Amino acid sequence: MDSIDGGLTAKPAWYAKGLRFECTQCGNCCSGGPGAVWFTLAEEEAMAKELELTLEVFHARYTRRIGARYSLKELLRNGAHDCVFLDRDTQPGKAICSIYHARPTQCRTWPWWSEVMESPAAWEDTKQRTPCPGMNKGTLHSLVEITIGLSGGA
Ligand code: SF4
Ligand code: SF4
Repeated sequence: MDSIDGGLTAKPAWYAKGLRFECTQCGNCCSGGPGAVWFTLAEEEAMAKELELTLEVFHARYTRRIGARYSLKELLRNGAHDCVFLDRDTQPGKAICSIYHARPTQCRTWPWWSEVMESPAAWEDTKQRTPCPGMNKGTLHSLVEITIGLSGGA
């Protein structure tokens, strides 16, 4: 039977009760196959400032053009495409972001990306494919936190 409001009531999100996620700093989401880390001009300025570089130097040193946009560069290490800011040396057994406090929104909002949150299957698939050992583990994140992430982390 149709709902009495004619179907206008939104179905609760599949993650309405929250999801567990806690990063183990494995670095997999900053590596793997070739990819792109997009950023805005304001984010590029913040990254340059974090490294005490001018925007021009930062741009030349750490970014690359893909089509009409710019992404952070990647470094090929042991067959994996590491983000240029992935630091595998400072903490043994960990892979950390060397510009963590200035990392772009794309990185800040992981794994609350629309394509990941589309369905339980998409979430599971991302967990397996990345692979991300932090998904379904540790801290329970509320619907509000996830929704904020999905809207760009604002
Ligand atoms: S893949 Fe998951 S656990 Fe590993 S660094 Fe990324 S978010 Fe953290
Ligand atoms: S900027 Fe940092 S968090 Fe983002 S992909 Fe690179 S290493 Fe990972």
